[in-house]
Amino acid sequence: MLSARDLWIDEKARRAGHQDGAAFAVAHGLKGYRLDQLYRAATKELVPDLDAITTLPKELRTALAAEGFGLDAVEPVVVQRSRDGHTTKVLFRLHDGNEVEAVLMEHRGERNTVCFSSQAGCAYACAFCSTGQAGYTRNLSATEIFDQVRWFARELATQNRKVTNLVAMGQGEPFANYENVMASIALFNDPKGFGLGHRHITVSTVGLVDKIDRFADEHTQVNLAISLHAPTDATRSSIMPVNRKWSMHDLMAAVERYIAKTNRKVFFEYVMLAGVNDTDQHAHDLARLMKGPLYHVNLIPYNNTPDGLVRGTEDARIWEFAKLLEERGVAVTVRTPMGRDIAAACGQLRAETQPRAKAS
Ligand code: SAH
Repeated sequence: MLSARDLWIDEKARRAGHQDGAAFAVAHGLKGYRLDQLYRAATKELVPDLDAITTLPKELRTALAAEGFGLDAVEPVVVQRSRDGHTTKVLFRLHDGNEVEAVLMEHRGERNTVCFSSQAGCAYACAFCSTGQAGYTRNLSATEIFDQVRWFARELATQNRKVTNLVAMGQGEPFANYENVMASIALFNDPKGFGLGHRHITVSTVGLVDKIDRFADEHTQVNLAISLHAPTDATRSSIMPVNRKWSMHDLMAAVERYIAKTNRKVFFEYVMLAGVNDTDQHAHDLARLMKGPLYHVNLIPYNNTPDGLVRGTEDARIWEFAKLLEERGVAVTVRTPMGRDIAAACGQLRAETQPRAKAS
């Protein structure tokens, strides 16, 4: 397995037309310490561009720029800020013209969380999710994931602030792009680079059972969130097609194996949909699935999508539902929606990956 540095160099070198990182180093006569300088400047010092890496000789910077070696695999094309100023959504363009979104949420100066995308589009077609309705385009590479976060980290750095938390909850299914997502986590975590602790990173999945097992075997401190959204097969299959491949029984068994191996908390996301999964019976059934202190339910108020296929549960009912769970000993929180006014909330990251209609 490549080190985080070599993985980063490799991807950037390939993009600039080299066969791999080693061929790139040979072509430019670069010793290890030069590669270190390059990698460190981009991932730790968060310099804006090659020219700002003044530890590198000017001729080298010019040569690299001339062949299209860049520090950023994603280019910001639209930046939107919510009215309250706490949420920033950026639409990024990839080298092949595909587009993805990522969101920064600033929690009163305590935490700065970036929600990043792992795929252009998504193949899982959850009935309530805007991304899912648009279909799947392709996996993102590790640096296409990393560089979304690099952009926000640079913005925050200008105010002497940092990205403190990361969630793989943007477009795409992270476990369907397992290797690249894990490689991006290696970049985020590298103490010689970005240096963010595993415990500050959360991966969210629709429930790919084989990948949950694989993740358990990694024994990392990265947090696992499961998009559950229903307590029974009938309800879950009606809104999440993935449930027809892996039933609730399979999914909950995988969660039990994960907990047995890691002794880590699992976060269950449960988006509240009026008349679909929010009755008393649903609360009772859900409470029965939650087997102790390591099972944590996060109720998510539904954010409207342009498709308008489903309606969210009223806030008052969400709190009643939370109370029913609490009374049955379930650890439960209600997610505060952020950035609804700029369609930056959960499930609203949209079809920007589709070719846009040409202005006539
Ligand atoms: N594919 C992964 C990552 C996406 S995470 C997963 O499904 O977990 C985004 C979270 O927001 C998921 O829990 C998803 O189910 C939820 N979500 C999707 N659409 C939503 C919407 N319109 N309102 C609120 N939450 C939504």
